[in-house]
This record gives sequence, structure tokens and C-alpha cells, in this order.
Amino acid sequence: MAEAYRFRVNQHGPAGSPVREAFVPGDPRPGWVRLELRAMALNHLDLWTTFGLPGYPLPLPLTPGCDGAGVVAAMGEGTVLPPGVEPGGSVMIAPGLSCGVCPACLRGDDMLCPAYGVVGHASDGTAATHVLVPAANLLPIPGNWSFEQAAAFPLVFLTAWEMLVHKAALRPGETVLVWGGGSGVGSAAIQLVKALGAQAIAVVGSEAKAIRCWELGAEHVIVRGDLKALSAKVRELTGKRGVDVVFEHTGAATWGTSLAVCTRGGRIVTCGATTGRETSFDLRMLFAKQLQIRGSYMGRREHLWTLLSLLQRNSTNPPFRPVIDKVFDLAEYPEAQLHLEAGQGFGKVVCRIS
Ligand SMILES: [Zn+2]
Repeated sequence: MAEAYRFRVNQHGPAGSPVREAFVPGDPRPGWVRLELRAMALNHLDLWTTFGLPGYPLPLPLTPGCDGAGVVAAMGEGTVLPPGVEPGGSVMIAPGLSCGVCPACLRGDDMLCPAYGVVGHASDGTAATHVLVPAANLLPIPGNWSFEQAAAFPLVFLTAWEMLVHKAALRPGETVLVWGGGSGVGSAAIQLVKALGAQAIAVVGSEAKAIRCWELGAEHVIVRGDLKALSAKVRELTGKRGVDVVFEHTGAATWGTSLAVCTRGGRIVTCGATTGRETSFDLRMLFAKQLQIRGSYMGRREHLWTLLSLLQRNSTNPPFRPVIDKVFDLAEYPEAQLHLEAGQGFGKVVCRIS
């Protein structure tokens, strides 16, 4: 491989401001590996690394990037690889980092570990030609997926699975309102809702994105305009009943509508607040409708293995796949951040690493 380089956030700034620098990739410590990356995918967490998060200090300087795929180039002393992963083999990265020895980790709730962090926040991330990660974070790449597809998969599918299956306890036949159906996590959610035997009503910002949501298996798609009209449309589509589950990640702008469109006993699960993190609401709505509100952040690393086995068992007709919006070269990582921030694409923004 040519020159090793990475992008660095030396101080917080606007999207697109990480700086490229040459570096010497370190040697992995016991239990860790060094990957030669072939692709990385961006998430909103990349933008948080760049902007900085109030009340959540990050260890600068830092290389952003939570998702990546590549080959195992070096192993720390005594390192054991997961099933299906070999030295020199192709892998994708589970993005969550945890201690592995606390009670939460021992019962598999690694995302509740007091030491939980994400690659690209708690350690140098994947906007680089090489990255160091624990061997426990490696997964084989399914079927004939490209490195770009593999990089676009873990974070959003893990997040959406945790929200739908474990936080919302989604049941077959139920209806889910998916905000931001064109986002990485939204496009994953639409497919998982269908794979779980439920129905998605996707909300998007344009007709072009609506067509893509239909193709992913959304039962209904609403092009977002006036929120009152949107509530009325959801009532109409659900026979005045409302939806069983709201898949929230947009926050302040949509929160009131999320409460309004939920049926009695409905569940709202949120993993983000891209339109704003502060909101207020009428508590009567919460108790009178007996709603459940659950926060969610990432998910159990083990769930990625569940998703892999679902793909392997249905390899001729996979029930879901990562949706790629645009592929940049890693050298263009700052431009890729600006593209993600603009929010006009459909699916994941990926960088190829050549
Ligand atoms: Zn732990």
C-alpha cells in the first residue's frame, strides 16, 4: 500500500475541517489487530467528532470514523480471532468498544458498559488507511459484498435492530413510522421492519427519496411537508388508530408529531436528535395514551452476528442490504463530511481507500 495517512481533528470546527496527515500505523497490543482499511463509511458521529459535543469531551487530536472494512494486516501477541476471520482475511468492524469484564459486558449488554465508547470517539477511527481495533470487534464480510457495502453496514443496522427488536419489541403485523427514511439508519430500519413482518410508513423530504423507500419495502411513504397534514395522513393510513412504534432520530422538529401519531400503548424509540436536542411536550399525552419512550444508543455487538446469520441463511434473497448514497475517495473525506451534513443523499456516504 502507498503512503499511510489519516484525517485528524486537532480542534473542533465546521464539517469538512479534519486535516490530512501522514502517519506510521502502530503495532496492535495483545487482543487487538491492525487493519489495512479498504473502505470506511460516515455517520453523524463523524460530524460530532468534528464539531465537538457539549458535555461530551473527546480526546483530541482524534481520527474520526466509526465504520470500516479491510483486511487483517497484523495481530497483537496471543490474539484470538472470531469465527470466520483469518489473518489476512477480509473483515468489517463492529463499532462499539467496551471493557469486556464488567457485569454489563458479561451479560452481553456491552453498550451499557461504564467504559463504553465508539471507534472514532474513544479511539482513533477509520478515516485513515489503517486502524487498530480489538479482535472481538471483527466480523467476516457476508457473501460477495464489496468493502464499500461492508463498511456501510454495521453501525446503522446494529442501531436499527436494537431499536426495533429490543427497545420497541416490534411484533409482526405492527406499523412503524420511520422518520428520515432516506438516512442511513432510516434506510436500514425500513428494511428491518419488513424483514420482521411489520409495516413501515417512511417519511422523506422529496419524491425521489419516496421512490427509493418503496423499493426498500416501505408499505407507505409520506413526503414531508406540513406536520399537521402528516399526522392526518398517518391517521388515515392506520384507520385512525395511529402507529404502534415511532422510529425517532430527528428530535426537536418531529417530537410532538411522534407523540401525536402513536396509538394507545405505542412505543417511541429514539437514537438521535439531528434537528435539535431540546423539546417540551404535554405530559398528559404520555400518560393518557400510555406511551413508552425509550432511548437507544448503538446496540449489543452480538446482534451483528444475528444479522450476519440472517443474511447467510437467506443468501439468495437477502432480507436487507446497506444502501450506499455516494462513494468518495478517502482523500476527499472532508468533502464527504460536507455531503453528509447537507443531508440531500439517500443512504450511506462511503469513502473508498485505495
Ligand atoms: Zn464493560
